[in-house]
Amino acid sequence: MVVKSEGGRELRSFRFKDEDQSQEVRAVERRTLLETLASRLPSAAISFSSKLKRVETSRNDGDTLLTLEDDSLISAKIVIACDGIRSPVAKWMGFPDPRYVGHCAFRGLGVYPDGQPFEPRVTYVYGRGVRAGYVPVSPTKVYWFICFNSPFPGPKITDPSILRKEAENLVKEWPSELLSIIESTPDDTIIRTPLVDRWLWPGITPPASAGKVVLVGDAWHPMTPNLGQGACCALEDAVVLANKLGEAIKVGSMSVEEAFRSYGEERWPRIFPLSVRANLVGALLQIDNPTVCSLRDNVIVPKLVRLGPILEHTNFDFEPLQV
Ligand SMILES: Cc1cc2nc3c(=O)[nH]c(=O)nc-3n(C[C@H](O)[C@H](O)[C@H](O)COP(=O)(O)OP(=O)(O)OC[C@H]3O[C@@H](n4cnc5c(N)ncnc54)[C@H](O)[C@@H]3O)c2cc1C
Repeated sequence: MVVKSEGGRELRSFRFKDEDQSQEVRAVERRTLLETLASRLPSAAISFSSKLKRVETSRNDGDTLLTLEDDSLISAKIVIACDGIRSPVAKWMGFPDPRYVGHCAFRGLGVYPDGQPFEPRVTYVYGRGVRAGYVPVSPTKVYWFICFNSPFPGPKITDPSILRKEAENLVKEWPSELLSIIESTPDDTIIRTPLVDRWLWPGITPPASAGKVVLVGDAWHPMTPNLGQGACCALEDAVVLANKLGEAIKVGSMSVEEAFRSYGEERWPRIFPLSVRANLVGALLQIDNPTVCSLRDNVIVPKLVRLGPILEHTNFDFEPLQV
C-alpha cells in the first residue's frame, strides 16, 4: 500500500506482512462477488427487476405484503431486506433517511484488454479536500475513486461525459497516472455518489428487526466508505443472520423473531462504532486547510501512522456457517 501527495511524492509505503501477518487487501469487482454468490443458489431463486414499491402487514395472518412496481403482490412469512441505502423497508420500519456527510465520490473501473500495467497494491493520493485511490482488481481492470468536498450532494448526473470531465478536473494538476486510468474507463462504469451514513443511536434508532422483517447491510447501517467496510459488514451480517436463522428453523431453539432480535443485538456493537469511526476518518481525510495538509504530508503520514492499528477494525471472527 502506497500513500502519495497530490504532487506525486511518495509519503509512505506499507507492506502488510511487515505489520500484521493476518492482513491482506482483496479488491473484488462487484459483479464477480454477486455472480459468485448467485451461483450457489438454485437458478429460480432470484427474481430480477422486481422493484419494491410498498410494504405493509397483512391484517389476516400477520404476513408482510410486498407490492412491486408492476403492482404484483408477494405475501412473505419472512423478509430479509438488503435493499441498500434508500431501503423502502427501512423507511417503513421508521428509520430516518441517511444523512449527507459533506463529500461525494466518483468511482470507475479502468479497463485494459491487453493487461493492466500496475503493481498489485493500493495507491492513495492525498490532496487538499480531494483524495483518490486506485487498485488493480484483475489482470485487466483497475478500480479508482476520487472523494471531494461539496456542501451539497448536487443534482443526479447521468451523462457520462459530464461525469468524466468533472472527475478529471478534480485531479488534472496531479501526476498523470490517475488521469490515464480515468481515460481507460468505459462510460458505463463511471458513477458519482453523495456519501451518506446513519448512526444507530441506542434507544432512538429503531432496532434491526420488526417481527419477521429484518434489515441487512446498507439498508440497516449505511456508513461512509472511509474504512472500506460497508460491503464487508453486509457480508458479516449475512453470516451471523444465517447462523441465527439456522438455529431458529433447523434446530428450533428459538423463534424467527428471536433470531432476528439476537442478530441485531450481536451486530450492533460492531456496526455502531465502525459507522462513527468511518465518518470521523472521512472528516479528517477531507480537511482542506493548507497547514493541516502540510502537517499530514510531512509528519503524520511519513512518521506517525502505523498500519496495524489502522486495520484493526477489519478483524472479525465468527462461527463457521452451520450448513
Ligand atoms: C465510493 C464508495 C466506495 C466503497 N468502497 C467500499 C470498500 O472498499 N469496501 C467495502 O466493504 N465497502 C465499500 N463501499 C460500501 C459498499 O458499496 C456498500 O456497503 C455495499 O454495497 C452494501 O451492500 P448492500 O447489499 O447492503 O446494498 P447494495 O449493494 O446497495 O445493494 C442493494 C440492492 O437493493 C436493490 N434495491 C434498491 N431499492 C430497491 C427496491 N425498492 N426494490 C428492490 N430492490 C431494490 C438495489 O438494486 C441493489 O441491488 C463503498 C461505497 C461507496 C459509495
